[in-house]
Amino acid sequence: MSYVLGLKCKECGHRVPVSPVHVCEACFGPYEVEYDYQAMRGRVTRQSIESGPRSLWRYKDLLPIEGEPQTGFHSGFTPLKRAHRLGRELGVSQLWIKDDSCNYPTYSYKERVVSVAISKAVEFGFDTVGCASTGNLANSTAAHAAEAGLRCFVMIPHDLEQGKVLGSLVFGPQVVRIAGNYDEVNRLCTQIADKYGWAIVNVNLRPYYTEGAKTHGFEIAEQLGWKLPQHTIIPTAGGTILPKVYKAYKELIELGLVEDNRPKIYSAQAAGCNPVVKAIHEGTDNIEPQKPRTLAKSIAIGNPADGLYAYQVVTQSGGWGESATDRQIVDAIKLLAKTEGIWTEPAGGTTLAAAIKLIEQGRIPRDESIVISITGNGLKTQEAVVDELPVRRVIEPKITDFDQWMEQEPEISDRLATVL
Ligand SMILES: *Cc1c(COP(=O)(O)O)cnc(C)c1O
Ligand SMILES: [Zn+2]
Repeated sequence: MSYVLGLKCKECGHRVPVSPVHVCEACFGPYEVEYDYQAMRGRVTRQSIESGPRSLWRYKDLLPIEGEPQTGFHSGFTPLKRAHRLGRELGVSQLWIKDDSCNYPTYSYKERVVSVAISKAVEFGFDTVGCASTGNLANSTAAHAAEAGLRCFVMIPHDLEQGKVLGSLVFGPQVVRIAGNYDEVNRLCTQIADKYGWAIVNVNLRPYYTEGAKTHGFEIAEQLGWKLPQHTIIPTAGGTILPKVYKAYKELIELGLVEDNRPKIYSAQAAGCNPVVKAIHEGTDNIEPQKPRTLAKSIAIGNPADGLYAYQVVTQSGGWGESATDRQIVDAIKLLAKTEGIWTEPAGGTTLAAAIKLIEQGRIPRDESIVISITGNGLKTQEAVVDELPVRRVIEPKITDFDQWMEQEPEISDRLATVL
């Protein structure tokens, strides 16, 4: 059974039945899925969720799916890792990493939104799916489309990291490389969705797609023992995941599954693309578009579709935002790897770097509970660190060579990039 009532415009409240539309016919605002929380009360419980599958589908009652899921049977339910060593480094006592860098099958938070969107595309009877992507969404859409046997077109900016491009191509979709930035790719995708009648997961299926991001928040709460963290730091690109984690927290409060501790949400962006953080700092809800210039390509969205909602959640929850330079992003990638054994991509480096600033500023108290949201995997973005991880000379397979190697200063090192 489904608790979905229909779609409701976030701006004017106009309601329409469930269908593949995303823009309000009355005011052009975005539609959002509306649920019958009254009917959920007493039926959607901690026990009902805990007895579900060990995937994001354990929260199916809170997702906009009518029938059975089509993909994502192993997606979600990623680790929430207590980060003792990183916590000591940052001088905080209760730190966790929500680690979507190991999300199955393409190693990013996007499995959550794509699992719901692809299942919905099948329900609506589409045979072709697609997306506008900075890389991870393309990888995930291509993989889930392959699993569901759907035709797939992914549109990406031409200058993505090799791992992100190969990470789509291998699944056999049509990969359309476009000479433009993400915002230009996205505009083209909107026209394609209209003209060709395909299910573009983050365009015409956007109301369903975005709901999948709630599972990141549901899992944090469940894995903390049905408690909400006081502070959650989340990256902001198009502005999907941040407001949806907050929505997840609010829904659990509404259903009486967690106590309301007034959780605060913080936005992390790269300094080279920080329209939402800039608006937060300036206290204006006018999100001014930017031209992205950052190595954090997966979150380089200069004109975020849901930037306003990210802004609103941060300010209403009493959080804040910070941005990080490319240098700080790479340092944070290395710090997370060296302290916790997690290799994240620049989006994760951005989030950790922003968290460090917020703690140092005193905006996040050192003795309160903190979750840092790690959304992608470093193996896909080797370009970010390859130039500065030194390797030492090759030795002969002899113990005397090794003895020498031990005695020599590590200065005779080389850069991996030049060795390769
Ligand atoms: C897509 C993405 C995000 C966040 O994007 P939103 O559009 O704001 O939800 C964050 N990190 C990574 C690695 C991503 O791929
Ligand atoms: Zn409207």
